Amino acid sequence: MAHNFTTNLRHYLDETGQIPINMLPEARKMASFLTALVESVTSHPEEAKNGINTGLTCPVDRCGGLVSGQYHGYISPITWKCPKCGSEGDISNWQHSNWDFTDPDETEDLNLLKEAFNHFFDPSVLESGLPLFDFPKKQGRKKAPSKKFDHYLQLKISLENTKPSIWRRIEIPCTSTFWDLHVAIQDAMGWTDSHLHQFEVADPLTGYPLFLGVPHEEDIEPERTIPEWEVRVASYLTLAHRTLTYEYDFGDGWVHKITLESIGKREKEVTYPRCTGGRRACPPEDSGGPHVFGEMLDLLENGKPAEKKAAKEELGPYFEPDQFDPSEVKFQDPEKRFETYFDEF
Ligand SMILES: [Zn+2]
Repeated sequence: MAHNFTTNLRHYLDETGQIPINMLPEARKMASFLTALVESVTSHPEEAKNGINTGLTCPVDRCGGLVSGQYHGYISPITWKCPKCGSEGDISNWQHSNWDFTDPDETEDLNLLKEAFNHFFDPSVLESGLPLFDFPKKQGRKKAPSKKFDHYLQLKISLENTKPSIWRRIEIPCTSTFWDLHVAIQDAMGWTDSHLHQFEVADPLTGYPLFLGVPHEEDIEPERTIPEWEVRVASYLTLAHRTLTYEYDFGDGWVHKITLESIGKREKEVTYPRCTGGRRACPPEDSGGPHVFGEMLDLLENGKPAEKKAAKEELGPYFEPDQFDPSEVKFQDPEKRFETYFDEF
């Protein structure tokens, strides 16, 4: 008997994009079928437009037919059919999964995809002529950010779990990549870029988290990290999706909330990026994270003399918690920083 299978690939995967180990055998069998089908079709999207024989066995019990798969463009579900029993199905939410082998550069559906993305953008952003879309490539080289830009993004950077709040306000070119933003955050905050970092954004297509950063060979899943120098901030941070997070130093766990406050027209006399506001000093490197740092601030202010002295030693003799002057922020050239960064780790 013919069956109809409407499936959402994400329902078969855990939050890391894998088939869960403890999945029940029946569901697991289906998950293996679906992921293999997505891989088979997306590895040859051009041929698969007319349907290809995937060599995969029909998921219907005891059918044994070999199913064909069909590709309908990047924003559409992948479909399959079993010629033997007549069963068929469609698979949605396969994009960006570990089994999506489409190459965005060679996909002629890129324009369609852009349109899909544009639905997520505020009309005022469209009018501003910002680059709307920059697909994360799986591999690639560094792309120098464009020096030509007409608009800037005004961002607020808040260090989570700090009281009183430690924050900065910066303006960066709308063409900035996530690498450029990383360098700007380091400089505006006052960090020394001596630990690992990572951005987390919501995938506008699926809502699932995407990670951008520097893929490291020793990562458990280096392919999970999108190289941050290949993706523009404006591709994800929009007036419709205003926030993302940036974590610095996975040991201390400094999480920064980045909020797009507004988009402005570039002013001629201004050098970007620039810092236009902020409060309180950046915590010293290796000061233990928000909790430990908060306790030391408390001792510095309210502790007994011996405790004050100890906290002062811990935080450094020159540390002034309420000190910050935006005019003293110096921004490094992200391209120069890129050249030296990889020598240090
Ligand atoms: Zn069948």
